[in-house]
Amino acid sequence: MSESDRPRLNFYAGGRLDRAGLRRRDQEWVERLLSDPQSRFVPVWRQQSFILQAEMPAPAVLSAETAGDLIRAASEIALLGLEGDAETGTAYFAIELSSLEAPETDPILSSVGRFADIRSVGPLLGQQEGQLLAYARGILHWHNRHRFCGVCGAPTVSEEAGHQRRCTNSACNAVHFPRTDPAVIMAVTDGERLLLGRQASWPPGMHSVLAGFVEPGESLEEAVAREVKEEVGIVVEDVRYHSSQPWPFPSSIMLGFSARATSTEIRLSPEEIAQAAWYTREQLRTSPENETFRLPRRDSIARRLVEDWIKGE
Ligand SMILES: [Zn+2]
Repeated sequence: MSESDRPRLNFYAGGRLDRAGLRRRDQEWVERLLSDPQSRFVPVWRQQSFILQAEMPAPAVLSAETAGDLIRAASEIALLGLEGDAETGTAYFAIELSSLEAPETDPILSSVGRFADIRSVGPLLGQQEGQLLAYARGILHWHNRHRFCGVCGAPTVSEEAGHQRRCTNSACNAVHFPRTDPAVIMAVTDGERLLLGRQASWPPGMHSVLAGFVEPGESLEEAVAREVKEEVGIVVEDVRYHSSQPWPFPSSIMLGFSARATSTEIRLSPEEIAQAAWYTREQLRTSPENETFRLPRRDSIARRLVEDWIKGE
């Protein structure tokens, strides 16, 4: 496969860390990495990412020495993976600091960076930087939401370097794995035009392709067809996979598709969508990008689906 044939990565994908999925089961190895001066720590506070105090946003990653007391204060720690060689590489850990009441008053944290919502800085980050922060935020969010067993209600504890949780009730002993909720997102065309809609809660002017969560007992293609029918009353066929994007805000993966409409009359479902219309390539190429009409965020697969369609891809 040549470089040009390779599918372009969506933002928040393309991390450089080896997740060490088998080795992280070795608790002694993980403990050694936790106290290894070479290890690096990615703080998360109440779903906000730690960003350097600099003109251009970049992840603020702490050394083991700097993170010392913060590691001890962390309510959860998860091994994100290793950078470089499997034997001598640098370990990266996500550390959950939400128990701190005011991180801006912590002398170490405030000397290095500040906490910000990744969605407010995402488009300004490099690809791997965005992936690192999204991954750390996603795995820690899962821990926060699974502190109790969904089977019996007893507390759960983290295992396997933060990649599973186990129920502490020995009669139950259920194991819970990090979850990712699949959502489909689709570029629906009538051949010449692209269907875009907007929800009332979105930023002013923003229009995007349709999307929705996959339900139990349906295929991805069926979810695409059902969502389009529900939201705008249009039947689609020829549903084809495009690409996917991690979207751990808080816990989704976006699965991108294209689909062809068999009719063009829009019948809106007002609870789902406030407005929808067909747009030509020319209309989208000359989008004013203002409060009357703007395309989705630059770091989203929604934007990429629109741009690829404009380019005829
Ligand atoms: Zn249980």
